[in-house]
Amino acid sequence: MGAPDATVLAYRETCDTVTKEYPLRVATTACVAWIIAAIDAPAAAFFWWTAMAALLAAEALSYRSIFREERATIPLRIVAYLAALSAACSIVYTYPVWALLADGAPASLFAAAAFMAGTLIHLTVHNANTRLIYSSAAMPISLVFLAVGIRLSMSVGNLIPFVTVLLFLMAMIAAYMGRLESTRQINQAMAEALAEREAARRASEAKSQFLAKMSHELRTPLNGILGMAQALKQGAVSTDQKEQASIIASSGEMLLSILGEILDHAKVESNHFVLEAHPENIDEIISQTVSLFESAAANKGVLLSLDRSQLDERHLLLDGPRLRQALTNLIANAVKFTDSGAILVKASARRRPDSVQVDVRIDVRDTGIGIVKEDFDRIFEAFEQADNSITRRYGGTGLGLAICRGIAQAMRGDVSVVSSPGEGSTFSLSFTTEISTACEPARNARAGGMQTGARVLLVEDIDVNRKVARAILGPVTKNIVEAENGAIALEKLKEESFDVVLMDMHMPVMDGFAATRAIRNSDANWSAIPVIALTAAASEEDKRRCFAAGVTAFLSKPIKADELIAMICSHVEPGQQEDLSRKSVFA
Ligand code: ADP
Repeated sequence: MGAPDATVLAYRETCDTVTKEYPLRVATTACVAWIIAAIDAPAAAFFWWTAMAALLAAEALSYRSIFREERATIPLRIVAYLAALSAACSIVYTYPVWALLADGAPASLFAAAAFMAGTLIHLTVHNANTRLIYSSAAMPISLVFLAVGIRLSMSVGNLIPFVTVLLFLMAMIAAYMGRLESTRQINQAMAEALAEREAARRASEAKSQFLAKMSHELRTPLNGILGMAQALKQGAVSTDQKEQASIIASSGEMLLSILGEILDHAKVESNHFVLEAHPENIDEIISQTVSLFESAAANKGVLLSLDRSQLDERHLLLDGPRLRQALTNLIANAVKFTDSGAILVKASARRRPDSVQVDVRIDVRDTGIGIVKEDFDRIFEAFEQADNSITRRYGGTGLGLAICRGIAQAMRGDVSVVSSPGEGSTFSLSFTTEISTACEPARNARAGGMQTGARVLLVEDIDVNRKVARAILGPVTKNIVEAENGAIALEKLKEESFDVVLMDMHMPVMDGFAATRAIRNSDANWSAIPVIALTAAASEEDKRRCFAAGVTAFLSKPIKADELIAMICSHVEPGQQEDLSRKSVFA
């Protein structure tokens, strides 16, 4: 069914009015009935009121049943029926005029004129959605008004009553035309605004897709650069070479974090920032994140401390990685913008009375350069920094706080700041979550040791990436068989037995999704083998697709050596254990 046309929308609006206002209309007619009763016709008043209430009910019920189902168009016979109903209501509604005129007292004549004028004004202002319904409702009362004007003119012998009514009716027609025109303009403006919103949505989607694609394309070569730099560091003989490899690795990591920020920002902008809440220990998350900055703060001579005294609740439902990300950004900024003094991270988690809801607030207070009040809002916008000299002195993209706010808002919270230049700033991250009754996952429970010579099937079409994975896994296992695509991987699985499959998801011939599905659907004893997806496509959607295909775990490229080793360790059955991961240079 297509979108409803303008006429249908107008009738639907009338439907809303007549159904919602039914009680009010019946009450208004009761007041008019009281006027009729007051001029000594109580029985007529009662019958008239009953007839009006029945007609108005018939109108409301008819509209309701016609618009119970969605309609793209409205047939002519229905339009004619509604117009006839509206005319019938209007004709019966003119009865009080005849009763008042018959009474003939000056007050009754005045009441009749006021009644007709009031009814016409009400119809013009309130019931002018469709030309036909308006005409069928306004026509009977206008004709009666005109007839009364003519009769009065004839009885007084001048044109004043007739001309007055005529002028009034002309004013009503002008008001109606004006209303039609302004409604047309509003509808047109709304249609234009909707079209522009749709165009903006499509442009934003295209931008997000472009960013996701670029991020994927950039991550693949970065994977090569970072992996090889790590391998070089491991094998380098001279200190110079080690230092050069370190510079390549740290530059690559910086590029990777900028790439991550741009991708996160695209997600915030396109409302694709979906958080996944799991049972987490918030105390652990905060303590670990703070400890990451201890040496950086100490190197600057800044005291970094943590106050957890108000963490009444620790086991909460959270998206741990995202909370770490937001907190990391706030603490990194505090360290970056503080040259002396102290940084205090103060956390509180208070349970609401008689509820599982917990209000969490984490303040990051520093004694750094501070921010002027006028910049409080601006710094939360993407690519905005307090002033241009910031980039030159401190670097940064200006995306961190925008992402922090995106994360906080996705957690039903916000980030705010109070600051004064030269004295320091306090950034407060607050959100509401729930108590977790489940246990946190035992992370890295088995990551301490890797099976000696675990048999790894490495499925990857790009040569450099295969070399990187080999270099990373070299110190822990040499037992690696390579396959260039999913089809070859399936052949290898039939020929040999493996402990784990590392699966790239985007490959020619047979991609990782199809290969993983084929593994899971097979009758062979390797159908339950752990499959770790390694992919440069790092969006939540990609992750969901991977898990839907049946992968066991997911790692995004560029691969971090310690993460890959820990991941393999936690998915390979412990056999003859030898604590090899500690031997790894990356651990
Ligand atoms: P970036 O740090 O990459 O510049 P952010 O979005 O994290 O981007 O921060 C935006 C700006 O807010 C910073 O450039 C800086 O001007 C200001 N700012 C953020 N945190 C602090 C802080 N703790 N002290 C002073 N200024 C800050």
